[in-house]
Amino acid sequence: MESSPSKTKYIFVTGGVTSSLGKGILAASLAKLLQARGYRVTIQKFDPYINVDPGTLNPYEHGECFVTEDGAETDLDLGHYERFLNVRTSQANNVTTGRIYSTVIQKERRGDYLGKTVQVVPHITDEIKSRFVKLAESGDYDIIITEIGGTVGDIESLPYVEAIRQFKWELGAYDCLVVHLTLIPYLKTSEELKTKPTQHSVKVLLESGVQPDILVCRTEYPLNKAIRRKLALFCNVKINAVIEAIDAQTIYDVPLHMLKENLDKVVLAKLKLATKNEPQLHDWKAFLQKLKNPITEVSIGLVGKYTELPDAYKSIIESLKHAGAHNECKVNIDLISSEFITDENVGEKLRDLDGLLVAPGFGARGIEGKIAAIRYAREQKLPFLGICLGMQCAVIEFSRNVLGLSDAHSTEIDPDTKNPVIYLMEGQREVTHKGGTMRLGAYPCELKRGSKVQGIYGGHSILERHRHRFEFNNRYRKDMEKAGLKAVGINPDLDLVEIVELEGHPFYIASQFHPEYSSTVLTPHPLFVHFVQAANLFKQIIDR
Ligand code: GLN
Repeated sequence: MESSPSKTKYIFVTGGVTSSLGKGILAASLAKLLQARGYRVTIQKFDPYINVDPGTLNPYEHGECFVTEDGAETDLDLGHYERFLNVRTSQANNVTTGRIYSTVIQKERRGDYLGKTVQVVPHITDEIKSRFVKLAESGDYDIIITEIGGTVGDIESLPYVEAIRQFKWELGAYDCLVVHLTLIPYLKTSEELKTKPTQHSVKVLLESGVQPDILVCRTEYPLNKAIRRKLALFCNVKINAVIEAIDAQTIYDVPLHMLKENLDKVVLAKLKLATKNEPQLHDWKAFLQKLKNPITEVSIGLVGKYTELPDAYKSIIESLKHAGAHNECKVNIDLISSEFITDENVGEKLRDLDGLLVAPGFGARGIEGKIAAIRYAREQKLPFLGICLGMQCAVIEFSRNVLGLSDAHSTEIDPDTKNPVIYLMEGQREVTHKGGTMRLGAYPCELKRGSKVQGIYGGHSILERHRHRFEFNNRYRKDMEKAGLKAVGINPDLDLVEIVELEGHPFYIASQFHPEYSSTVLTPHPLFVHFVQAANLFKQIIDR
C-alpha cells in the first residue's frame, strides 16, 4: 500500500425502502474488497431492538443466533463478516439498543450524570458514538464498517441516525462516510425501474441531517445512465457514487459485482486513501469457480424444527456450501421438519439422501423425529453429522435402541427420566436467568488418538464454539463406548464429552459444539468437508 492511513476511517451502512436488502452482505463485500487491497478492516452491527442480545430470540424472529469465540450471542450478520473476511469478531462487534440503554442506566445509577436529566440526546447518542469507535482502540484497524440494522425512518433507528449525523460532523468529510443501501423496484406493467422510493428514503435521512455519500441500489435489472443520473440529481450524490447491486447468483458473487461497479474505489477516494494496490482476490475467485462448476452432486437432509425459515440455519447452510465447493461437489440441501418424521415414514422421507445433518435446537418439539432420523442413519450407514442437540439426540437414540434403555432421554425434555443420558451441566444448576447464561464461546477439546475425528482435524487439540446448557452424562460413558459409541473429543478441564463417533459406520460423528460457526470461504471446516466427502462416497456405492 502506498500510504497507510494515520487514523481509523469509518463507513456506515444504512438501509432504505425495505428490510432484507442484504446490508450485511453489502458490508461484508465492501470490507472484503478493502481487505483485498491491503487494508485492515472490521465490521460491526448495531441492532435497534431492545433485547440486550439476540440470544433469547426465537430463530423465527431474526434467524440464527451467531456465537463469537469470546462467547457473545450475536446477529447472524456477524457470521457473514467472519465467513467473508476470515477474521474473528467479538462481543464488541454487535451492539443493541438494549445494551446501550442498560449501560446508560447503570451509569445514571452510579451517579455519573449527577444533577443532569438523562436524555436520548446527548446521553444515548454519546453512548452510541463511543461504541462506534470502540474497536479502533486496539489500533488494529484502518477502516471500521458499521452496519445499522433496520430501515431508516423506523422509530427505533432515530438515535443511530442522529449519532451518525453528529459523528460525521465531528470527524469531517474525509474520515467518515455513509453508504445507503436501497431498492429500485421494477414495475412489470409499465416495464420501468422506479427511483421514487429511493428518493423518499434519502429524504428521510436528509430530514435527520445525514447526506448519504454513496447509494447502492438493489435491482433486478441493470441501471441505465438516465436512471443513474436521475438518482444522482435527486439524492445529491455524484453519478459514480450510484452503485448498481443487481441480483446475484450467490452471495459470494457480490464482492465481484461491487468491484465491477468500483464501489471500493469510490469509497477510498472519498476517504482520501490510496487505491494503488489491485485487490488480491485470487483465492476468492478460485472458490467461486469451484462453487459454480461442480463435478459431483449430493443431497444432504438438514433435519430441524425451524425449517420454514432457512436463515435459522444460516451458518450450517453456508458451511455446507464451503465444503461442497472445496470438494467440487454441488450440495443440495433438503430442509426437513423433524416434527413430521416418525418411525413409520422415516425410510421414505430420507430414502433419497446421501447424508443426514441433525441441527441444533431447544425444547421438545420435533425431538422424536430427530431421534428416528438418526436411528435410520445409524442402521442404514447413511453419513451422519449431529450438531449440539443433534449430538444429544444421537446419544438418546443409541441408549434407547442399542443399550436397551427404552426411557433414556435428556432432562431438558423429560426431567424425571430414569435414564438421564443427557443432563444439565454442573455449572448450570443454579442459573435462573435466561439471557447470556448458557455455556458460550470457544473451549478447548482434546481428540482421542486413532479416532476418525483426529484424522479429520489432523491434530489433537482443537478449539470450538459452544452454546448449550445440557451435556453428555458421563455415568453412561463406559457402556456406550463398549457398545460402539466412542467419546472421541473431551474437554480437558471439565472432562465433558464434546464429540462422539460410531465404530463400524462410514461416517457417524456428532459434536456438542458448533463447527458451523467457524467455517469460512477460504477455510472450510474439516468436519463439513469430510461429511460431504462421505456423502459423495455413499452416493457412489449405494444401490437405489
Ligand atoms: N438444548 C440443548 C442444550 O441446551 C442444545 C442446544 C443447542 O443445540 N444449541 O444443551
